[in-house]
Amino acid sequence: MTSAAETGLYVHIPFCRHRCHFCAFYLEIAHVDRTTRFYSALTHEIRLHGQHNPLHGRWLQSIYFGGGTPTALPPDQLVALLKLIRTTWPTSPTAEITVEAHPSSITCEGLRTLAEAGFTRISFGAESMREQDFIPIGRHGQVQDTAIAVQAAREAGFVNINLDLMYGLPGQSLQDWQRTLELILPLDPSHISCYALTIEEGTKLAQDIERHRVSPIDDQLQLDMESLTEQALAQAGIVRYEISNYAKPAWRCRHNLLYWTGGEYLGLGPSAQSYLDGARFGNVADLDRYLTSLNEHRLPMTDCIKLSRSEQERDALVFGLRLLRGVPRQAISEAERDSEIDHLITSGFLSTDQGRLWLTPLGRRYADSVAERLF
Ligand code: SF4
Repeated sequence: MTSAAETGLYVHIPFCRHRCHFCAFYLEIAHVDRTTRFYSALTHEIRLHGQHNPLHGRWLQSIYFGGGTPTALPPDQLVALLKLIRTTWPTSPTAEITVEAHPSSITCEGLRTLAEAGFTRISFGAESMREQDFIPIGRHGQVQDTAIAVQAAREAGFVNINLDLMYGLPGQSLQDWQRTLELILPLDPSHISCYALTIEEGTKLAQDIERHRVSPIDDQLQLDMESLTEQALAQAGIVRYEISNYAKPAWRCRHNLLYWTGGEYLGLGPSAQSYLDGARFGNVADLDRYLTSLNEHRLPMTDCIKLSRSEQERDALVFGLRLLRGVPRQAISEAERDSEIDHLITSGFLSTDQGRLWLTPLGRRYADSVAERLF
């Protein structure tokens, strides 16, 4: 073993059965000819990285299959990918190995196959427990799929189960959101991610709002929903630790914590991003170019930016500020920043105590703007 530093691997599976109306991620609608070619290219990408050895013997502490919908690939392909990853890079026996899944895209047998192969964490995109919420966001499936999927995952052996939820959906009232939380909690997830709906340019939802087919987002209502979430989940022992993430003690997502604590990670698959040895680089966000590149035995990377030490520290602070515990104040104590910090404190965006600085509820709402002013 050469290093125990936290290093992660992200695998982007760029396929979904349908595109949700709010989604701006890079992905394609899953067709078996495309997924098969992608699977083969991805195995080649892993082998090429294995030859280049970018991790220099560091052990993987987390592996995360995200998307898209990773379960758009058959379970045996996901298992074969995991096996290849583990033979290519040393992987900690206690590594957190996550697979994201759409609740209606899995079977009991598939879940058993994944659990037996060593996936330790499953993350279901539940979004809401109210059927009507699915319509304006173009979400496929039925709300009862979530409860069925969670039970099946547990029976298959998954203990660490995350549910992704989304609030502030068109037509959703505070009571509707409360009801979703009330229906989710008895499922006893170890981790919940709650995202406020945002409108991304170029999505169908953005067009529908522009054409007055769907009601726009009510910012105050989203804030009220956020407060309700923090309170309701805390009462159930699921504590907020990041702007959008809540967990039972000991079940914080180790892979995502890497992003917020300046950890290193290698990304595989189209559009995946990496941060290794102080350099940020990414893969092409285009499946055809990704396939061509690997067909020619070239890694499908685009740009690579080497960060200076101070840029690395600044990035670590920007991401660290997303955590509820905040960052050490002295890490940003340059004289010219002190007055900006004081201004953000008196304006209610930041709080400080015992040498740490963190975002207030208002600050969390405008986290990107606060970070921009600070750094
Ligand atoms: S399932 Fe997730 S990744 Fe796929 S389209 Fe919907 S939001 Fe996007």
